[in-house]
Amino acid sequence: MISGEWTGTMNLTESQAGSDLSAVRTRAVPEDDHYRIFGQKIFITWGEHNMTPNTIHLVLARTPDAPEGVKGISLFIVPKFLVNPDGSLGAHNDVHAVSLEHKLGIHASPTCVMAFGDQDGAIGYLVGEENKGLAYMFIMMNEARFKVGLQGLAIGERAYQAAREYAKDRIQGRPVGRKSGDRVAIIHHPDVRRMLMTMKAQNEAMRALAYVTARHMDLARHHPDPAIRQTHQARVDLLIPVVKGWETELGIDIASLGVQVHGGMGFVEETGASQYLRDSRIATIYEGTTGIQAADLAGRKLSIDQGAAMRALIAEIEAAAEDLTQVAGDDLAVIHEGLCEGIRVLIEATDCLLASRDPNAVMAVSVDYMMLVGYVCGGWQMARAAQVAQTKLMTGQDPVFHEAKLITARFYVEHVLPRAGALLHSVMRGGVSIMALTEEQF
Ligand SMILES: Cc1cc2nc3c(=O)[nH]c(=O)nc-3n(C[C@H](O)[C@H](O)[C@H](O)COP(=O)(O)OP(=O)(O)OC[C@H]3O[C@@H](n4cnc5c(N)ncnc54)[C@H](O)[C@@H]3O)c2cc1C
Repeated sequence: MISGEWTGTMNLTESQAGSDLSAVRTRAVPEDDHYRIFGQKIFITWGEHNMTPNTIHLVLARTPDAPEGVKGISLFIVPKFLVNPDGSLGAHNDVHAVSLEHKLGIHASPTCVMAFGDQDGAIGYLVGEENKGLAYMFIMMNEARFKVGLQGLAIGERAYQAAREYAKDRIQGRPVGRKSGDRVAIIHHPDVRRMLMTMKAQNEAMRALAYVTARHMDLARHHPDPAIRQTHQARVDLLIPVVKGWETELGIDIASLGVQVHGGMGFVEETGASQYLRDSRIATIYEGTTGIQAADLAGRKLSIDQGAAMRALIAEIEAAAEDLTQVAGDDLAVIHEGLCEGIRVLIEATDCLLASRDPNAVMAVSVDYMMLVGYVCGGWQMARAAQVAQTKLMTGQDPVFHEAKLITARFYVEHVLPRAGALLHSVMRGGVSIMALTEEQF
């Protein structure tokens, strides 16, 4: 797999076990040095294909005496073709794709229903110890959640590039206030500018936050000092649900704006803009839905250390805001003011959730909180970028790029970051009206 010759799959989901993996029912019966696996998994990405000679399925299943719930789940390696002692491929294992899903998007990715053990049981090999499978799977899932966050960004960036090219090309209307003269490309219209700037600024903020998180992941793994590794791990744990949840939600918004910039040509298939929107839609669902990421952030990551990791993050954002005051410039002054307001909003929302004694209230506003954290972290990153850009501009380095960076950061602070304030309003209201209706009233 490391050399890229074989591919792998993650087999977690069953029809009754999606977000709630404690309901997994696939069975693993011990036999000699291996197990026999019986059960059905659904929605398995690249579950079956003939692009590589072998596929290694990682499968969650229960051994016969396993305890109920997540504490009774084990992890198994189930190769599509059994591997002989000399490394050559042997018989086809008792695992087969029994159908393919028809989907809204990502049509190049086969999503399969997988049957294990229709005959004698698929031969599987235990990973690590019994009953610790979910913890092992989470090592991979954290990595996967980060990478799905990057999918949100990647599709947002592609949507922006296509929209930018179209906006420079498509001639329609005249500049505001002119009734005659040449018609212009739509990039001259203020509302098209608004859409392009919203796409560009959010992409840049998302990219910076993802890269900063990746740096913490590297340091959490490789720093020689265990105490420093742990500090970085705490930051990774806090930011992964934000990168996954916030960036994939924004990916959809950006892809949707991309369709809008194209007008009618965005809704028909020729330009590809509609495909980005369809493809972006899965990223908020797989590897844990937005609701699950938000529950992880607001329900677990925030409270596990009574807010210590979040306070450390806030302190770092405050230091970045303070740094901004060291460099002169009108744009930086505006960015400083906006970021300080964002920090105030983040502190108030965090204190509100930490003080809440009602878990339902916290969960009811958890997505609002997660998005708020994302917008403020995005502002933090754009502010850092703006400061570097301003410094480089003062020495005349690459003015076209650095001017664009500075203005894009100012746009983010003036037009995107204020959304955090609206989300704070919702967080402070709690879950009363969210939970008030009876089931029959829906
Ligand atoms: C294209 C595609 C590819 C996939 N690839 C894989 C794969 O390779 N391997 C694999 O194992 N799985 C895969 N999945 C499955 C995917 O991970 C699940 O669909 C996802 O985890 C959600 O589970 P579910 O569909 O059962 O939805 P449900 O869990 O039924 O969720 C439905 C809604 O209820 C909400 N919800 C559920 N529980 C809670 C809760 N406790 N708190 C708050 N809200 C909640 C969810 O947020 C969601 O909005 C794939 C799915 C798709 C569509």
